[in-house]
Amino acid sequence: MGSTEEATEKPLLEATPIYRCKDAGCKAWVREEYLPEDKACPLCKGPMLKSIKHLPPTGKPKKKAKATAKTSR
Ligand SMILES: [Zn+2]
Repeated sequence: MGSTEEATEKPLLEATPIYRCKDAGCKAWVREEYLPEDKACPLCKGPMLKSIKHLPPTGKPKKKAKATAKTSR
């Protein structure tokens, strides 16, 4: 009792949605926002699983998905 708990400044981590490779032997993972459209692992092209990873915030303002001007073709 009486031990002063020092509030050590930990780097703030945010629970970030990520996708990681289903293959246990493959350590590839990407942030959800960087997931390729085909949702394939960048390393082994296998399927990926949605997960959560605690990452330091990027500090960048969240960009909205590009308003891609669809050219009618
Ligand atoms: Zn993989």
